[in-house]
Amino acid sequence: MPGFELFGDEERKEVNDVLETGILMRYGFDGPRKGVWKAKELEKEITETFGCTYAQLTSSGTAALTTAMAALGIGAGDEVIMPSFTFVASFEAVLSVGAIPVLVDIDETLTLSPDAVRSAITAKTKCIMPVHMCGSMADLDALKQICAEHKLILLEDACQSIGGTYKGKSLGTIGDAGTFSFDFVKTITCAEGGVVMTNSKEIYVKSDGYTDHGHDHLGVDRGADLHPFIGYNYRISELHAAVGLAQIRKLGTFLSLQKKHNKALRAYLEQIPEISFRVVPEGGDDSCSFLSWFLPTEEITKAVVAEMKAQGVLAGNFYWFVNNWHYISKWDHLKHATTLNALSETQKTALLKLKETSFPASDAIMSRCISTAIGLLWTDEQIKEKGEKMTAVIRKVLQEQAQHA
Ligand SMILES: *Cc1c(COP(=O)(O)O)cnc(C)c1O
Repeated sequence: MPGFELFGDEERKEVNDVLETGILMRYGFDGPRKGVWKAKELEKEITETFGCTYAQLTSSGTAALTTAMAALGIGAGDEVIMPSFTFVASFEAVLSVGAIPVLVDIDETLTLSPDAVRSAITAKTKCIMPVHMCGSMADLDALKQICAEHKLILLEDACQSIGGTYKGKSLGTIGDAGTFSFDFVKTITCAEGGVVMTNSKEIYVKSDGYTDHGHDHLGVDRGADLHPFIGYNYRISELHAAVGLAQIRKLGTFLSLQKKHNKALRAYLEQIPEISFRVVPEGGDDSCSFLSWFLPTEEITKAVVAEMKAQGVLAGNFYWFVNNWHYISKWDHLKHATTLNALSETQKTALLKLKETSFPASDAIMSRCISTAIGLLWTDEQIKEKGEKMTAVIRKVLQEQAQHA
């Protein structure tokens, strides 16, 4: 799954280019940097690799989401419809621009349910933000249709699905804007970093200024830049961009290993008729960073997790429903609106309401779902061992449950 597994000489070489000049910042210092522009180069590679017109690097995926929202004009009081299964960064970014995260159910794609989205639309809805979790995607045609009907913005949080495609287009390039994260455990890593991708020049120019204190980057030097609006500092450094540059050139390798290993492990789980798999929308191509699978009931899933733990085969298997920080059930700080500084009253009221909101449709899916992270370095022998051990555990639990019944 993560690019850090194949960190090597290529990354060291790119970083060394930057260390040679000592110009660690992405803007300015045109003379001393001796033609080394790693961030610019990475932005160009991103547009070419993923097929978008513009790319703006940021200091993190969270910063990329915040930047995209600001550039799309999402702000105070606007409602952003997002899934109940995601990483906390998605709602953090919504809150950071003054908007309101409206959490709704997922379906067996493990992403936004288009029906749940429809029911959540109000006069204040401004944006639909699908999160393409664990390498695969939401039903983007259905969501685009809803956006067109209600004149809403489509912002893709594609932070976890670098390399996945939908109807031939890269995830993250299909909505009005999309983001990737390049944090340490993502498919491509910069250590920390992110990107806003868009085909709109206006959204790009706004993203560019927003991430650098509102600089228009049109002056002869930084001091001569104008500031058409207020921005912040969400810049990536040249050192981080250098790592990403080496990584993006290996993306083809990452993806082919992921696909190969995913398929091989899946073949083991497919031998068990009680197991079903995450639904990939028609026309979608999963990046295969995870293999997500379902057991028939919550009880069986919990027993399988416990048995995998007992037998030492749980590592790399995520039971998001209770064990991790990716599902609404674990977000007490959000449900209690626990912030350091005051939220707006509208934001606070909306968050406190989450305490009384239940997500039975999502619970019914997440309580039966286990995601297995796919390693890039797995050998055939290791996949065989993993597959045999996992299926042995599952068969044992299914047998025990059948005897109890
Ligand atoms: C990783 C991630 C982000 C952004 O994370 P950063 O660590 O800030 O780069 C956003 N959304 C999702 C779904 C993620 O997995």
